[in-house]
Amino acid sequence: MKKLVFATGNPHKIAEVNRLLNGRYQILGLKDIGCTEELPETQPTIQGNALQKARFVYNKYGVDCFAEDTGLEIDALGGQPGVHTARFAGDAKDPDANMNKVLRLLEGRSDRSARFRTVIALILDGEEHLFEGIAEGTILSEKTGEQGFGYDPIFQPLGYDRSFAQMTPEEKNAISHRGKAVRKLIEFLG
Ligand code: IMP
Repeated sequence: MKKLVFATGNPHKIAEVNRLLNGRYQILGLKDIGCTEELPETQPTIQGNALQKARFVYNKYGVDCFAEDTGLEIDALGGQPGVHTARFAGDAKDPDANMNKVLRLLEGRSDRSARFRTVIALILDGEEHLFEGIAEGTILSEKTGEQGFGYDPIFQPLGYDRSFAQMTPEEKNAISHRGKAVRKLIEFLG
């Protein structure tokens, strides 16, 4: 079976993509190729960071690979936190602190539209390919729901009356930014 490295240290993400690929490729994580260092993510865009991580792994380890990066773009904040989504409230990457900061900044604001954007950068036989997934929605006025991770409790996807954190993983995957990007990747891989 062909091997493809997913440039992430998150075993849940690897398991999720492995299931979706249905045995056509074997997905390996960074640990499987002996990479334990943190990947560089210093670009000013989500796409730039996804490419930077994939290129780093491709150049250093010489393996076909893909990397993903995700950001939350809030219209009333001019698209912030965007590329700073993980560290919006500081280097601790604390989801509660991040959500509290968003809620504070949006207090009293009526325009609460936002979107999650995921970009996957794939490098296959030296060729680069990009896949994007977007989930439009609104920022709720308080945290709602227990499932999911990150900003899920304050994000309600368009057309639904529940937050991502009130959905099962299957429900969220069917409409989420990452689900859409991963399905495009899988379609491309064939
Ligand atoms: P990363 O690109 O997976 O490192 O994610 C960047 C930031 O976006 C982190 O703060 C994550 O918690 C957040 N994030 C990524 N995907 C999701 C999601 O599906 N729901 C909520 N937050 C997310």
